[in-house]
Amino acid sequence: MSSLWPQLEPLLSEVEKPARYIGCEDGAQRPPHDPDSVAWLLCYPDTYEIGLPNQGLQILYEILNERSDAEAERSYAPWTDLEAQLRSRRMPLFSVDTHRPASEFDVVAFNLSAELVYTNVLNLVDLSGAPVRSADRTEAHPLIAAGGHCTYNPEPLADFVDFFVIGDGEEVVGDITDVLHRWKRDGRPRGSRHAVLRELASVPGVYVPSMYEVTYDGADLVSVEPRYSDVPATVEKRTVADLAEWPYPRNQLVPLTEVVHDRLNVEVFRGCTRGCRFCQAGMITRPVRERPSDQVRQMISDGLRRTGYDEVALTSLSTADYSGIGDVVASTVDDPSMCGRVSVSLPSLRVDAFTVGIATEIQRARRTGLTFAPEAGSWRLRQVINKLITAEDLYAAVESAYSQGWRRMKLYFLTGLPTETDEDTAAIAELGRNCVEIGRRYNNGASVTVSVGGFVPKPFTPFQWFGQNTVTELNRKISLLRDDLRRDRSVRLKWHDPAATLAEGIMSRGDRRLGPVIEDVWRAGGTFQEWSEHFDLGRWTESMARHGLDPDWYAHRHRTLDEVLPWDHISAGLHKDFLWQDWRDALEGLGLEDCRWTPCYDCGACTGYGIEHIVASATPPAGGSQGTGQDLSTGHEVRVSLGVRP
Ligand code: SF4
Repeated sequence: MSSLWPQLEPLLSEVEKPARYIGCEDGAQRPPHDPDSVAWLLCYPDTYEIGLPNQGLQILYEILNERSDAEAERSYAPWTDLEAQLRSRRMPLFSVDTHRPASEFDVVAFNLSAELVYTNVLNLVDLSGAPVRSADRTEAHPLIAAGGHCTYNPEPLADFVDFFVIGDGEEVVGDITDVLHRWKRDGRPRGSRHAVLRELASVPGVYVPSMYEVTYDGADLVSVEPRYSDVPATVEKRTVADLAEWPYPRNQLVPLTEVVHDRLNVEVFRGCTRGCRFCQAGMITRPVRERPSDQVRQMISDGLRRTGYDEVALTSLSTADYSGIGDVVASTVDDPSMCGRVSVSLPSLRVDAFTVGIATEIQRARRTGLTFAPEAGSWRLRQVINKLITAEDLYAAVESAYSQGWRRMKLYFLTGLPTETDEDTAAIAELGRNCVEIGRRYNNGASVTVSVGGFVPKPFTPFQWFGQNTVTELNRKISLLRDDLRRDRSVRLKWHDPAATLAEGIMSRGDRRLGPVIEDVWRAGGTFQEWSEHFDLGRWTESMARHGLDPDWYAHRHRTLDEVLPWDHISAGLHKDFLWQDWRDALEGLGLEDCRWTPCYDCGACTGYGIEHIVASATPPAGGSQGTGQDLSTGHEVRVSLGVRP
């Protein structure tokens, strides 16, 4: 074993935030280095502050370290100051746990949660000492892997990543470790890298891009097909059937320095069946799998006691939908051993499930920020996107919050949605103003931040066929909003840079031809593209022009049903005809109810895997209208009118 600590330590006084690179957090592991174990370096391709709280990475870190044939350590993207120091001294990427060089690991695995981190992935592979292109690596180099939501369209990174994991990682990391353990035991013979990748390609949920041949006809993608008969034509995602079997992380890391989401995080369920049509996370993580509420309570009390945190976030895609929510919040706040000092935050709340009851329980301890995401300003557009919350739902939630003492809240919207008109844009300002007015009934200083992001169509959603708005159009809509809200001091407007939305859109639905573009942008110094001060659209478009690629073709063009999509050989379980029908329904403004409590639409997510929604309680959450207004206590009566497909 080698540690770079002696060389690294003197550099830390030269860099902005040394605590990013030290490790030693409560919960950190320093696994013994056994030459026979499969060594994983789990990398988050952004800064420590953003990467440390990532639950996916922490879960795998623990699961792998519990195995006798594996060891796992962590790494985060060094900020530009340390990177410059490392490069000038020819020092490689290292783990923060034992400061071991990345080249000593068998697998360097990245979590991909956003497209704009792709250049950071190349940068870290290069810093590790391995060639950035997988074709140039040998048995002497680590295998480069990636998991996370962006892997549902892995093609833009196909030239650089040896294998992708599609879906939940808990089980598949064990299967991968088994294959690699045998390979290590055999001494990683010369020429065997191809063979081991081929073996990995047959592990369910693993996609090895080099095993697939891509054919184009002019600009059009014709097919992505396996080169060998033992490689699957379609790679199915992995789905953990029962979260109760995976109560991780058990030892959440407690950072030594400030990070985002600095609190105990307990995942209460995975999946979402609300069916918001813009939402990739909801679509690809189906079916719903709730954790038993007893287990949630246990994880909260153990976690709080161990970490000393006084705040717990109940995480999921839509936490107020968790059927045990009332009990869990109340019992946490009432826990006598916590002496009334614990606050509960619910970072992902649907407004229609936010009740006075929940507001009261949360505020009994401490008021944290509240964000509601109506996503669209008008009811018409919310029907198009299937975010079926009425303005009354929103106002009732906002009133609950203000009446319980909140003074500020954030409303999150998307702009550039399919069929959006200027009236829909004006309705965003109107909602913001009305919320402030409600707040003023309780507090003169009430204010609202309206935050607007440009919409990017994502694979495996009904909007995957939609051509996204141009930068000019997005800027025009933001200007309309700015003009509209100019005189309202209590409604603050924030927006995401439309130029970054374009780059994200190109990558989101891109194909393998974008590999050289990502490489060019990285070679030109384009790292940390998620950070506005580092983002430069010109680098992306200039490189695309050099390679004869057209940003319009990738981002702004509507797709047709017969078009081969770059991710058609990956399966998220959803039937393509279900998504297409949902897209047609969207254009007609037809809503679709939550299938958790209503009959199955056969989207494929449950039937395809023989897994059903698992809910912790047979009773839906009190007060939750399940987004479509149905009152479940009185026989699913629908109070808002939903169009019905003829
Ligand atoms: S409620 Fe809608 S936006 Fe939220 S996770 Fe579910 S599908 Fe996505």
